[in-house]
Amino acid sequence: MPPTDNEYKKQESELDELYRDIILDHYRNPRHRGHLEKPTTSKEGYNPLCGDEVTVELTVRDGVIEDVAYVGSGCSISQSSASMMADAVLGKPLKDVKHLIDTFTSVMRGSDDFDPDELGDLEALTGVRKFPVRVKCATLAWHTLDDAVEESPAS
Ligand code: ZN
Repeated sequence: MPPTDNEYKKQESELDELYRDIILDHYRNPRHRGHLEKPTTSKEGYNPLCGDEVTVELTVRDGVIEDVAYVGSGCSISQSSASMMADAVLGKPLKDVKHLIDTFTSVMRGSDDFDPDELGDLEALTGVRKFPVRVKCATLAWHTLDDAVEESPAS
C-alpha cells in the first residue's frame, strides 16, 4: 500500500529545512523540463510504490551529454530529483555520469562515502533516507538515466 497523501506531506515537512528548500525549489522551478528536438536516446521509468513517472531524453555526442531533458509526473521528491539530475549531468562525459549515478544510488542506499562537491544540490536528497519508502522516488530519474546511458555510445 502506498502511503497516503497526508503521510507524504508529513514526511516532506519532516525533512531538514535546508534540504526541503532545495527540493521544493527544484520542484517549483524545474530545470531542463521538456523535450529535446533530436534526442539520441529516450527512456521511461516508473515507480509503482508512489506512482511517479519520469522520461529522460539525452543527446549524446562523442561520449558527452550535450543536452538533457525530462518530463514526468509524481511527488515532489521524484520530480525535483529529476531536475537536479539534469542539472548535474549536462555537459559531462558519460564516464563521469556513470560515476555520479553509482555514487548517488549508493548514498541513497545508506553510504556516507561521498564528496559534497560532487553531489552539490543532490545532497539535499540524502534527507529522504529516513523515509525508506521514498528512496525509490529519489532514485527513479537516476535508474532511468542509467538505462539511457547504457544505450549511448561511450565515444
Ligand atoms: Zn514519489
